[in-house]
Amino acid sequence: MIKLTKIFKSYKLGKEEVPILKDINLTIEKGEFVAIMGPSGSGKSTLMNILGCLDKPTSGDYALDAVNMLVGKDSFLAEIRNRSIGFVFQTFHLMPRLTAQQNVEMPLIYSGIKKKVRREKAKDVLDKVGLAERASFKPSSLSGGQKQRVAIARALVNEPSFILADEPTGALDTKTSEQILDLFTELNKEGITIVMITHDKEVAEKADRTIYIRDGQLFVEEKGEPVHA
Ligand code: ADP
Ligand code: MG
Repeated sequence: MIKLTKIFKSYKLGKEEVPILKDINLTIEKGEFVAIMGPSGSGKSTLMNILGCLDKPTSGDYALDAVNMLVGKDSFLAEIRNRSIGFVFQTFHLMPRLTAQQNVEMPLIYSGIKKKVRREKAKDVLDKVGLAERASFKPSSLSGGQKQRVAIARALVNEPSFILADEPTGALDTKTSEQILDLFTELNKEGITIVMITHDKEVAEKADRTIYIRDGQLFVEEKGEPVHA
């Protein structure tokens, strides 16, 4: 369902092009729980931004459910992105002035869903992540783990086919991290594809498959030859 082919990404630094991603090839099937693991600065977030259509590669192809994500109109691609991908970030990215319920409703407002339906859908997903009782709380009154649950509920509310999580446990203690990873495992069992970026080996072990990234290249094994096929 997710297919990256010959992805290169570089940034301009003065007159120089600095390569960040170098010939990335990756296929992720529907229903997989994949961890992408690598050290700081290896290109994880750059790769996540491309997978999430938040950024475009310098060259290469990206197909999501057989749709070429690099050629269509921006509005069309934005719609696919909103419908297909749920984002989860290390630092939650919740709106501080809004309640948990309102934060979860945000993607539905963008999708033009009516208030009554929004409320019901948001309640359902908050219930799913175990936070029904905290719906009226603002982020500042929630623990880190609860904030991440709200963010996961928000990611789920459009019923995405996959969740893209960038260091989702990076700001959480070990016990809370495990609870969040258990939630991912549960969601994955229900059929949601999960792509989780991490620099933590123990976190990566919760996924079914780990892909390693080092210096902008992917590896099937932690050591060995990069994947160029
Ligand atoms: P990671 O998430 O694995 O820590 P990143 O993908 O954030 O790594 O960054 C990979 C490399 O790309 C780093 O060397 C970083 O400095 C560089 N980089 C990331 N974004 C930009 C940018 N917008 N402009 C220039 N360099 C960037
Ligand atoms: Mg990063």
